[in-house]
Amino acid sequence: MLRDAEDRYRSAFEEAGVGMAIVGLDGAFLHVNREICRVLGRSEDELLHGTGLGDISLPDDVGGRRSEFLALAAGEIDRYQRDRRYRHPDGSVVWGATTLALVRDAEGGPAYVIGQLEDITARRAAEERAERRAAQQSALARLSQLALSEQHFPALASATVRAITDILDVSLAGLSELRPDAEGVRYVSGANSDDVGDSAAARLDEAHVLYTLALGEPVVVRDAATETRFPVSGLVARGLASGVTVPVGGEHDAPYGVLGMYATAPRAFDGDDLAFLQAVANVLTAAVRRIAAERGLRHQSLHDPLTQLPNRALLLDRLRLALARARREQHWTAVLYLDVDDFKNINDSLGHGAGDQLLRDLAPRLSEALRPSDTLARLSGDEFAILCEGLDEVTESAAIAERLLAAVRQSPIRDGADFRPSASIGIALVGPGTVADADDVLRDADVAMYRAKRAGRGKYELFDDGMRAETVERVALTNDLRRAIERGELRLVYQPVVQFAQRRVTAFEALVRWTHPERGEIPPGRFIPLAEQHGLIGALGSWVLREALDQRRRWQDAGLALGDMSMSANVSRVQLSRPELADEVLGALAERGLSPNGLMLEVTESAVMEDPDVAHATLRQLGRAGVRIALDDFGVGQSSLACLRELPLDVLKLDRGFIISLATSRQSVAIVRAVTDMARTLGFSVVAEGIETEAQGQVVEALGCDMGQGFLYARPVAPDAAPGAVDRLDAALQGVGRTRVI
Ligand code: C2E
Ligand code: CA
Ligand code: CA
Repeated sequence: MLRDAEDRYRSAFEEAGVGMAIVGLDGAFLHVNREICRVLGRSEDELLHGTGLGDISLPDDVGGRRSEFLALAAGEIDRYQRDRRYRHPDGSVVWGATTLALVRDAEGGPAYVIGQLEDITARRAAEERAERRAAQQSALARLSQLALSEQHFPALASATVRAITDILDVSLAGLSELRPDAEGVRYVSGANSDDVGDSAAARLDEAHVLYTLALGEPVVVRDAATETRFPVSGLVARGLASGVTVPVGGEHDAPYGVLGMYATAPRAFDGDDLAFLQAVANVLTAAVRRIAAERGLRHQSLHDPLTQLPNRALLLDRLRLALARARREQHWTAVLYLDVDDFKNINDSLGHGAGDQLLRDLAPRLSEALRPSDTLARLSGDEFAILCEGLDEVTESAAIAERLLAAVRQSPIRDGADFRPSASIGIALVGPGTVADADDVLRDADVAMYRAKRAGRGKYELFDDGMRAETVERVALTNDLRRAIERGELRLVYQPVVQFAQRRVTAFEALVRWTHPERGEIPPGRFIPLAEQHGLIGALGSWVLREALDQRRRWQDAGLALGDMSMSANVSRVQLSRPELADEVLGALAERGLSPNGLMLEVTESAVMEDPDVAHATLRQLGRAGVRIALDDFGVGQSSLACLRELPLDVLKLDRGFIISLATSRQSVAIVRAVTDMARTLGFSVVAEGIETEAQGQVVEALGCDMGQGFLYARPVAPDAAPGAVDRLDAALQGVGRTRVI
């Protein structure tokens, strides 16, 4: 009976689904069941003979376990429960939920211990995995955040490497970068700082890294001892036995480098480890691309795409810094504004390609003329600016300007062998200890450049205070002019033109007037250039044209003789360079039902030369439609007679300066003769402008001019006063045969 019961207990013990053991007070196994043998991976024999609890425990668990067991064995406690780790002979770790209970003898003293062990390895593994995943997730989130904002890549790289060693059970992690020459790699970040760079330590897994780069996917080294794909001596030398690497992407889908982690023991690296490393590599890839994109953008936003020189923004930035420094220093700062002469001409006659090529060629030549510390920038089109700091004397800036002008002259234009480029330079100087605003300094240099241009090509000019007053006023006046055009504050006056042969008025010139609300009358010679420089001339020109035609229509409708006379309007060089001018003019005529041959457009030779192709096409189209063309201001500027043959001219207007010089210059007289001769041959008329004296009138008539215009006959008058002025002038001209009337 007793025997039966004992058998039953024995078999219950033996077959139990949990591991069971009877343990002696000395810690030795007395009985073990099948399950405990299975869980611990040991035979009954091993457990009963020799392998004590201490032997199968993990080293760091042993101490705690022993003291608890001793307390139990001493009868101080009756039981305890712990989750314990055991070493499986296959090298893996087994987790057991252990319960040890003391069995006492009849006297109550400790007899033996009953141990129970439940295999919770799978559960613990799942828990650990979940924990690790959570840690990985939060590390990834943190790194991603960092990757979005960190400007300094090495900081991100070292945070990444630290995260890997913290979270994964590896002893080393590192990031290596493919060298720009794509030959070999360098360590960007390692577990400790001596790993960074090109040191021997950095080359620990160069072959592994290169193999990864070549393959473009993760490469696992499970055990260095059996690795055959590439040499792993570097790993072995560092006491590492396993490692895994993943590629990190760089700019434009090119590889950036490789992220790796390494362990001292052979290791398979499970899917989770790989996934984390890959995710980290992806974060780095995104950061590398973002930083590259930002660098590109920054470069783009601060450089000119054609020449790669700094642009206006970067120049102003450097100028601001320079001015801040200059305030404390005993040096001069200079800004030189350089504008290529006749650049438009180069573009038009040789093509935009040639223009761009010239600008590209100019950049290095200008640089060579400068000191390394100077900043050469391209502002726009054919405008460059040069910032020179630390000049000892004002004259140094002039020497720099000379060198730059020489450099421009020496730049040959490809496919334009006979063309020698030149440039004009304006210089603005800031003296030692002076407070100045960067925008102002640049604008001053610009103003001086305009002055240099006016003085002729290939010159430089220093900004002076006279120009300063000019600039301030210019800005204010430009704003006022913009408003004046919008509000219709401009008006036209009309100056009669006298036909010598018929002794009567046969034409009018419309001249624009602006009465500034505070400053009073502003001469067109002042505000027309402003309008041209600041993009207002289009609106102004259209308004003048429409208003002049409206006036003509009103005179026609009123049945006045003026309605049938020629009406001249001035066309600015900027208007003439726009291909749509012809359509605009013809449209405006058609809208008003006016005949094109009642309209004369006055253009200057320099305006035509600015964009000869467009100007010629426009003028020819207008000429064919019947609009008449006058060449204005002949005698100032280039004034080439050859040009007269090429243009579809109806009228040539001799400049007032020319008329004045007739009294003193035999040469002027000869030229006027030649011009009037030519006019007869080519079939255009000649108008002498600015006739103020009777003598001038007689001389020009004698020299063959067909018409005269000037204060002698009539000043420009308001439209309402025009009919009366014409009547009086006509009467005077015919009545007494004398020209003086008003
Ligand atoms: P411009 O086309 O040569 O116009 C003739 C200028 O000479 C006018 O000056 C006129 O008033 C002035 N003038 C006429 N007779 C005499 C004279 O006997 N003695 C003197 N000293 N001057 C005389 P204004 O109106 O001041 O115009 C100056 C310039 O402004 C014009 O020169 C023209 O280039 C420009 N301009 C005037 N109105 C317009 C316009 O509507 N559009 C454009 N684009 N330019 C205009
Ligand atoms: Ca004119
Ligand atoms: Ca003129």
